Amino acid sequence: MKFVDAHIHLSDEEYAGVVGDVLAEAKNSGVVALVSNSMDLKTCQGTLELAKRDPGMVYAALGIHPWTVKGLEEDELNRVLQLISEQRGDRAFVAVGEIGLDSKYPEIWDKQVRVFDLMLRLAEKLGLPAVIHSRGTTEQIVDMLPSYNLKKVLLHWFSNPISILGKAVERGYYITEGPLATYSSGIRDVVKRVPLTNLLTETDGPVRFFKKPFEGKRTTPAFIPTVVDAFAEVKNMNVEEVADQILRNFQDFFGVKLD
Ligand SMILES: [Zn+2]
Repeated sequence: MKFVDAHIHLSDEEYAGVVGDVLAEAKNSGVVALVSNSMDLKTCQGTLELAKRDPGMVYAALGIHPWTVKGLEEDELNRVLQLISEQRGDRAFVAVGEIGLDSKYPEIWDKQVRVFDLMLRLAEKLGLPAVIHSRGTTEQIVDMLPSYNLKKVLLHWFSNPISILGKAVERGYYITEGPLATYSSGIRDVVKRVPLTNLLTETDGPVRFFKKPFEGKRTTPAFIPTVVDAFAEVKNMNVEEVADQILRNFQDFFGVKLD
């Protein structure tokens, strides 16, 4: 079986010095491709470097995360916008991400909205999918999105409100879920409700997971087969069928062809 990690942060400091090990673990567990997301200028540069070093395995999502907006200077913002525009046409550059809004930081709300708007316009201009973080802001974001002409939308780690899932799926949005699908009833409910054709697997590493079988371990794409098992269990489907569909979804969503 072949697996994919549609959302990880491989250029995060926590992976510094161990990216080779993490990629080897991924390959050994059957993971054939992953999308490394960015947060700011430094992680955009790091992501691009990793994608160049391991073409066909590491794909790049470039953007500014709502968490890094607080300390973001105008100069850095402009440099990120320029860097992203320069990658136009690069086959490894598959999405604008991770971008979004987070209700936990109301003190920088206006700035978050401004940066998110710039990122969405960029995704629109480049004709690339948008990978969206929407903690506490999903309804607002889903309301905003129709005013942009976006190719594709991925709501990463969707948790709530469940009531909005129908609208998101109707519009063709994709949802990623990860290790929590093995033990969180809320996340399992999302996996159950979203058609398999709109689902993707992720780890969001280096985010850590504190329950078995992940506790005490560095988050790695090697967790993905366990996530696929959980999806298959929830959907009451054959694991291979689930893995194959997710592989197809990854290629359709990011517009890549995996061998
Ligand atoms: Zn993330």
